[in-house]
Order: sequence, then C-alpha cells, then structure tokens
Amino acid sequence: MALLRFIPLRYKFWAVNALAFVSTLVLVLVAMGLELRSINDTRQEQGRELLHLWSGAQPLSLQGPLRPVLLNADDPALWVQQLLATAQPEPAWLDASVMLPAGVQPALGAWVSTDARGEGRAVIVQAMGFAEVFAQRAPVYAVAVFVLMLSVLFGSQALIRLVDRHQRSLQAMAHYDALTGLPNRVLAYDRLHHALDKVRRRGGYLAVLFIDLDRFKTLNDSHGHSFGDAVLKAVTERLQQRCRTEDTLARLGGDEFLLVLEQLGSAARAERIAEELLELLRQPLPLADGREVFVSASIGVAVHPGDGLTGDELVRNADAAMYLAKTRGRNGWCRYEPWLTEQAMQRFELERNLRRAMERQEFQLHYQPLTDIAGRPFGVEALLRWNSREHGEVPPDRFIALAEDTGLIVPIGSWVLQEACRQAQAWRQAGLGLQVIAVNLSPIQFLHVDVVQHVAQTLRQTGLPARCLELEITEGALMQDTSHAEQALLALRELGVRVVVDDFGTGYSSLAYLRRFALDKLKVDRTFLQGLPESASDAQLVRTIMQLGRGLGLQLLVEGVETEAQRAWLQAEGCRYCQGFLFARPMAADQLSRWWPAGPGAEILAGGQPLLA
Ligand code: C2E
Ligand code: MG
Ligand code: MG
Repeated sequence: MALLRFIPLRYKFWAVNALAFVSTLVLVLVAMGLELRSINDTRQEQGRELLHLWSGAQPLSLQGPLRPVLLNADDPALWVQQLLATAQPEPAWLDASVMLPAGVQPALGAWVSTDARGEGRAVIVQAMGFAEVFAQRAPVYAVAVFVLMLSVLFGSQALIRLVDRHQRSLQAMAHYDALTGLPNRVLAYDRLHHALDKVRRRGGYLAVLFIDLDRFKTLNDSHGHSFGDAVLKAVTERLQQRCRTEDTLARLGGDEFLLVLEQLGSAARAERIAEELLELLRQPLPLADGREVFVSASIGVAVHPGDGLTGDELVRNADAAMYLAKTRGRNGWCRYEPWLTEQAMQRFELERNLRRAMERQEFQLHYQPLTDIAGRPFGVEALLRWNSREHGEVPPDRFIALAEDTGLIVPIGSWVLQEACRQAQAWRQAGLGLQVIAVNLSPIQFLHVDVVQHVAQTLRQTGLPARCLELEITEGALMQDTSHAEQALLALRELGVRVVVDDFGTGYSSLAYLRRFALDKLKVDRTFLQGLPESASDAQLVRTIMQLGRGLGLQLLVEGVETEAQRAWLQAEGCRYCQGFLFARPMAADQLSRWWPAGPGAEILAGGQPLLA
C-alpha cells in the first residue's frame, strides 16, 4: 500500500498485477515444494513398512506409486554389497547422498536391515521430482492460479481506486480547510510563493490581503459553534464572489482569511478591492437555515514589492495592517506602513507579558470615589492597574482590549471582581461608610461566562451584600446578544446586584434597549463634559441625556468632572452623582482608606428611595 503511493496512477494497474503474478508464482512454487516434501515423507515411511513386510516373506511385486526398489543379497553390484554389509536387525535409514551411486538417482535413500536368516535386505525409496509433481497436479494448480489471477485482476482495480481515494483525501486534508473547502495555510503559502516567483520574473504587483472578521469570537461563543461555522461558510461564499480565478482565497484558521491577488496593474487596485470586499460583507449574510446575520471585517493590505519581498514578510505585514484597521474602529482596511512592524513586535511582547502578569501578581486595583454633587463619597469604582516588570505602568486602554482579544480578560476579570468585593467588604467591616463598589465587566465576560453564577459565587465567598455591588457594562455588551443580555440582567437583578451602563452615549444610537433591559443607572460618558459649561451643544446633550434617564427612572452619574465650573453647572441642572478628578483620582486601597472622610458619607437613592434605608 505504502509503495503504491509513489507510483503514478497509469502504472499502478500494471504494477499491482505484476506484483500479483510474481506472488502467485512464488505461492505455487511454495505449495509444490510443500506437497513434494509431504509425498516424499510418506514414501519414506512406506518404504520402512515395506522392508518390514518383506523381512520374512518372499520378494514382493514392486508396482504402485511408491516405486521402491528391493535389493537383496544376491545382487552382485558393489554398492549393493556395501549397502547390505551395513545391515543390522533394526531397520536403518541411509540418506541417498551417503550410499547411492549416481545411477540409482533420483532416490531419497534406503532402508536397510537383516531378515530372519540374517541376510541383508534393502528398500530404496525413490524421490518424487518437481516435474513429476507438476505433471500430476498441473490441472489443480492451473485452476488455482487462474482463480487467483482473476481475483487479483478485479481486486487490484478496486484496491487502486481505494488507495487513490485515500490519497486524495489525505491530500485534501493536508491542503484544504474541511469547513469551507478553501485552501488552508499550507497551500496558501505554496501558491503565494509560486505567485511571487511569477511576479519577480514578469514584474507587476502582487497583493496579500489579511481578512479578519470583527468580534467573531463573541458571536461564536454566544451563538454556538455551529452558528459560527455557518457564518464562516457564508462569508467564504461572499468573498469568493469578488475573486478571479488567478486569485487565491484561503482560510488560515478561525476567522482569518488570506487573499492573494496576482497580476495587479497597480498597488492602489488592491486597496480598491479591499474596499469592495468590505462593502460586500456589509450586506446581510443569508445563512443556510434562512436566518440573516450582519458581519464586518478588518482587512490589512500588503503589496509586493513595496510592503515586503518574501511571502512570510507580506503575510506578516498584512496581518499588522489588519490589526491597525481593528484599532481604528474595525470594519475597515489599512495599508501596511513600516512603523507597524515595530508596533506589532511591541504588541507581541505586551501579549507575552500579559499572559504572565497574573501569576507574577502584577495586577492591582485602584479605586476612584463616586460622590454626590457636593463631593461626599458613597462608593468607589474599581479600576484595574497593571504594573509590568517589563513595561512599567500600562494604562488599561492599552491592555484591556488586548486581554479581550486573547481571552485573558476572563481570568483577569474574575480576579478583579473577587478582589474588589473582598476589599469593599473589608472596608465596610472597618467602618468606612462605603455603600457601593462598582466593577467594570468586559462584554466578553458578560457574554461568555455564566456571569450570574460567577457573581453570586463571588458574593458568597467574600460576604459582600449584593446591594453593594454595581456592575458596569458598556452598551456594546447589551447589543451583541440581546436575548442573553436580557436574561442575565434579570437574573442579576434577582440577586440584588445593580447594573450600570458605562460610557453612556458613546455606543449605539438605538435607545430601545433602555426600556427593554433591567438597568439601574446610566454613567454619562466623560466626553460630553469636555465642552461644559461653555459649549451650548454639549450642554444641551448632557441635559437631554439627564432628562432621558430621569424619564426612565434610572439613576444618573456623570463621569469625568474635572472643574468646579462643570460641577456647578451640573448641580444647577439637578445632577446628583458624579465622579471625576475634581473630587479624587483613582488611588490604591490604603491611600483610599486614608482619603475617605469620617462620617456616614453621602446618601444614595435608588428609584427615589435611599438605597440603604
Ligand atoms: P471607565 O470604566 O469609564 O472608567 C473611568 C475612567 O475614567 C478611568 O480611567 C478613570 O481614571 C477616568 N477618569 C475618571 N475621572 C476622570 C476625569 O475627571 N477626567 C478624566 N480625563 N478621566 C477620568 P482608567 O482607569 O484609565 O480606565 C479606563 C477604562 O478601562 C475604564 O473606563 C474601563 O472601561 C476600563 N477598565 C478599567 N478597569 C477595568 C476592569 O477591571 N475591567 C474592565 N473590563 N475594564 C476596565
Ligand atoms: Mg467604568
Ligand atoms: Mg466610563
């Protein structure tokens, strides 16, 4: 089987049959040899019996298949006399090679003994020859060979087909992606190298497009993997619409696709194609089960020769450009630029160290007071800090997104929740008038993990009452999988935990969710405060948001209050709660214990009632 793999298909048939013929021949010869041996053994045995019968009686007639030759003492031939001279009363076997002259061949040997009168007698046992066996058994062998060859003939065809199919499927497995049928990484690189050879000879441009779906992981994890698979298939079909026969569209794994564009007239052409692909993907994607989904992608473009000379370099640079497109808000394309290489290396380093940060205990929580409009604190927001051995203090903006991309946010986030609850409970027990601890939850945590159970367990372990915990989630988390979000929020409310929409106003324009979900509080994003109180439009925006929140019975907190003028304006507008550098910056736990004023602290109201009534 293994050997067949290396023989070209058209020779395989002959090779198999020649092999079968030779093996049949060998088989026949072996069978004949075995048969010969068995016949000769029988003859030898029968020779002995004959000698025994003969020893007392008259000479026997010598017919039959055995063809033994009886010798007695009367024979004058010298070798006969010598042979008989060795005779003993007990029959002895003498091998032909020992005692027979050439004329008596072919013989196996002779049985010799003395008879009752003490005279020597011998029976020479004739050997059966190869030709003799063959002549006797030819018809049987012929039929056997015929049947064998016939089955080999038909069998070999079936076998070859089997081997070929096996070979082809092995090849397909090694070179094609099983889900989408697209070339995989191995074949993609192979084609890319060929294409590069061509472009080097003939000139022109070659482009590598690195395509990565946006937030595919969230979609996959929240809707299940078969849904994710269906989306990948639909995306493949969509992308194929824009591919020419000379282009190679490959799936590198996960939600990553690679498109190699050959024979391009200009580098700008690749950019236009990237734009067209994005446009195609923005259209709703019909799935096989009749559902429709919306996806978007980020594309990185690298063009030979300007953006890289080798295949590896081009793919790496397209990848770096894709990452830039992601950081610029996704759903777009970016062309490779040399500074990206440096950035990609830094990112790689950062990721490597982020993976180790947990075990090295490099994370710390800082706490920023949440206050009433007069600056009296009632709670704190826990904010994550990474003090890296290699990178120094890394701001959350730089590593939270990375932790989300790599899934590290799940263990990090659960540490944050645990630590924040533990600290808050410790403060409460120490008599600090802390009524609320706010913890940020990433959409990944909110959608992927069984958040309700996790929160309940953390509260049990730390002893913190549920009413003291606020979970801050962004609008994005609510919108990504609305039915899951709805259930999770209801279950959290049942636990007694409060849910806050963080950075309110920066995410989605759809406000319908405010009515639909069980929410407690809005945190107005700090960007709206920047123009206050001078900018009339900013003022109007904040006013409108506050009215909206009040109308829906939600508590409001304004983030990012930095100046006294802002505070005064907010107070005049009836805002009750805020957070900002004007009152306090985020600080370490021990610092906060010292900062926190003695006394009961501010009173907070939920739905018009004091929270800690
Ligand atoms: P956020 O949840 O909106 O947190 C408030 C951010 O605003 C904090 O930045 C805080 O330092 C900053 N801030 C507060 N008052 C002012 C102010 O008056 N002026 C200005 N300019 N900024 C102010 P920080 O700590 O850098 O955190 C940034 C973001 O990182 C957070 O925004 C949050 O989205 C995320 N983050 C922080 N910790 C965690 C965490 O434990 N888990 C998750 N998932 N995200 C976190
Ligand atoms: Mg927050
Ligand atoms: Mg915020």
